[in-house]
Amino acid sequence: MQEARELANDPCTDYHAEPLEDDIFEWHCTIRGPSGTEFEGGLYHFRILLPAEYPFRPPSLMMLTPNGRFELNTKICISFTSYHEEEWQPAWGVRTAILGLQGFFPLKGSAANGVGSVEYPVSERKRLALISREWVCPKCQQTNLECLPDPLQHATTTLNEPMGLRGLSRAPDQLEPPVSRPPPTPLPPAPERSPVPETTISDPDQAAISTLVTESRSSIVGEQDRTPSGTEAIRGSQLPVYHRPPLLLDTAICLLLVLVVALLCRRVL
Ligand SMILES: [Zn+2]
Repeated sequence: MQEARELANDPCTDYHAEPLEDDIFEWHCTIRGPSGTEFEGGLYHFRILLPAEYPFRPPSLMMLTPNGRFELNTKICISFTSYHEEEWQPAWGVRTAILGLQGFFPLKGSAANGVGSVEYPVSERKRLALISREWVCPKCQQTNLECLPDPLQHATTTLNEPMGLRGLSRAPDQLEPPVSRPPPTPLPPAPERSPVPETTISDPDQAAISTLVTESRSSIVGEQDRTPSGTEAIRGSQLPVYHRPPLLLDTAICLLLVLVVALLCRRVL
């Protein structure tokens, strides 16, 4: 289901939703309690029941984690659910329903009234928010915190990921030069590159042209190798130093081959 894939790739750290493995019409979702409210820090697990006519009819939401705001195992009355079918728009999707429910958490007084709503004291809601993190869904067999890790942890990991990737991408570069040093110094680079195009051309008469083409290609490849991505100054500055000798050798070989080919052509003609 496309929507499930979209939600799975959703970078939003406020919720995590996915359909059950055995029933695509039932989704389980964990949402974060809205910040600045008594639900802050709380994690709440609920069911999303899609009707057979979905997306033309709205989903139903049923809270599972004790929260002090919504009744448990009761279809919640918000404008995105089956209680307000006339307001539902097929384009909204599960994500809208999730965000809608999250938006309904802080509502107070008459705005909060409706089927499936309860109004526990703030202290009780805070207490429930605290213990909600370790609440385990009997179906998913995971705590809410496992379903939806804290954004701080997530933020640090996302911050660390690029750093880690940079570190990793730099580390191999620093490791690579010693490894790639042996090949550039001898001749192998040119023969290694030439076989690939040569296999495509079998005609002996065209061999001369092919060698020229391959040589020109190899020189282009060499130039590309010289500036692989240009993203990192370190890499860019290091590589030319290592690749200059093979480039000079390549061009020398190229010129020699051109001369040989020219001589052969003259003799043949
Ligand atoms: Zn669950």
